[in-house]
This record gives sequence, C-alpha cells and structure tokens, in this order.
Amino acid sequence: MDQSIKAYIKLLVQEAVQQSPGLPGSLPTGRTQYVIANWKMNKTLQEMLDFLQQLKEGNGVEVVVCPPAPLLYPAKLYVQGQNKDIHIGAQNTHQEENGAYTGETAASLLKEIGCSHCIIGHSERRQYAQEDDATVNLKAKQALKRGLTPIICIGETLQQKQQNQTEKVLTTQMLGALEGIDASEVVFAYEPVWAIGTGESATAEEAQRIHAYIRAVLAHLDKENAEKVSILYGGSVNENNAQEFAAMTDIDGVLVGGASLKVDSFQKIIAVFAKGA
Ligand code: PEP
Repeated sequence: MDQSIKAYIKLLVQEAVQQSPGLPGSLPTGRTQYVIANWKMNKTLQEMLDFLQQLKEGNGVEVVVCPPAPLLYPAKLYVQGQNKDIHIGAQNTHQEENGAYTGETAASLLKEIGCSHCIIGHSERRQYAQEDDATVNLKAKQALKRGLTPIICIGETLQQKQQNQTEKVLTTQMLGALEGIDASEVVFAYEPVWAIGTGESATAEEAQRIHAYIRAVLAHLDKENAEKVSILYGGSVNENNAQEFAAMTDIDGVLVGGASLKVDSFQKIIAVFAKGA
C-alpha cells in the first residue's frame, strides 16, 4: 500500500478512537435516524400492500421501504392515499439522464413517481453488476441532481477484513463515491459484505468503531458537516440485535434486508430506534 495512504489511514484511526471510545451513546445526536427496508427481489404487489397496510409510522424515525422497481409507484400511491409518513426508496438508479439503457431506471422517473431515496452501490450490485466507485459516484450525482437522497453502501469483504484492509477499503470507497459531492447530502450505510444475509452481524462495538472511523474520514473532507451525516449499519440486523446497534453513538439507523420482509420484525426494529429518536 502507498505509504501516504497508510499514514492517512493511521491518522484517521487515531482520531476515530479519540473521538469515540466506542461507548454506547446516551445523548441525542441531532442526526436523522433511519430504518430502511431493502426487499431486494422479493414480494408481490399484494404482499406489499398487506405489508404497508400493517406498517405503522416511524415516530421520529425516518422509515424508508425499498421494494422492487415495479412496486415503487403502487407503494407510493398506497402510503400517500393512507396519509402515512413512510418514504419509498429505489434499490438502484442509472447514472445517465435517459437513453438506450435497456432495463434501467432514470433518477428523474424515480423522483416523478414519488421516491425520496435511492440505495446506491449495494454490495450485491457491486458484485454482479460490476459497479465500481466511479459508477457509484455518477449514480449518486444523478440521484442528487433529481432530488433523491442517495444511500451509499460501503463495506469490506471477509477476505479484506481478514487481511486488515477494512479501513483502506472503506476510505477508497468513500473518497470515490464522494468525488464532487457534498457529504452532508448523502446517507452512508456501512454494510460489511460478510454480514449481509449471513445471520452473522458485526458486533455493535465493532460497528461503532468503524462508524467512528467513517465519521473521521468525513471530518477530514468537511469538518463542519461530518457530525450531520447519518451513518447506518447493515448486515443481519434483526429484532433481537437492533437494540445494541441503536445504543451506539455513531450508528444512526439500520439498513435491513431479510428481517424487513416480515412486518412484525421490521416494526420492532423501528420501535427500537424510535425510543432513542
Ligand atoms: C442488505 O442487503 O442490505 C442487508 C443488510 O441484508 P440482511 O439484513 O439480510 O443482512
């Protein structure tokens, strides 16, 4: 690794440790708390309507449901019709305005049909759609241009973790994703790849340490705004472990896959974060 990057990362790690001893946070941070459902390629129209009918509002927590693309508009119409304060987010968007991109969805269209957020750079897309940091950056820019809040996913693989590359990988992903972007306009989701869909989450202390590191990187880019950026944890969060994450100073919510498919589990996770909001 380049010596200057090594030194940079060392400095950021030191700062992160100083700023946040990893203790559970007790005071409100003023940052928006999110609980986000990433349904991936799951649920039918009827299943979605049943879910949204039962789902209650966030009580101070920003709840975002991200269904598959064809369900976005009916989801929006439903929550709007019921006057429910629940946001609808997309799982992806394309980096171009429009054009010959079969199967893709423009950010402008997502906005037009009522989406407020868009997940960008999920590790599954980085893996099977070969999305790199430059593409993530372009997608985030396009989302922002069209008034969508990008939820930018970053995270290391198991191999990278075992090789002590976590901080380096996250720094590279963040700097790449944020090129030309004001960090205070995005939400970050730290999603260690080894924890996604495996049932093996990071410990809350481990996640807190990494979140403090992410915030230290943000502070280097923009000292004033780093404290305002919501950083979510994702990776095998469920109703039993959500409380541990919610208690941590630098964890401002969660991005939930598997446990967001059952409305009871998802509602319990929301309730945990609502308590601290
Ligand atoms: C995800 O896919 O973003 C995710 C966090 O999945 P899971 O909660 O199932 O690990």
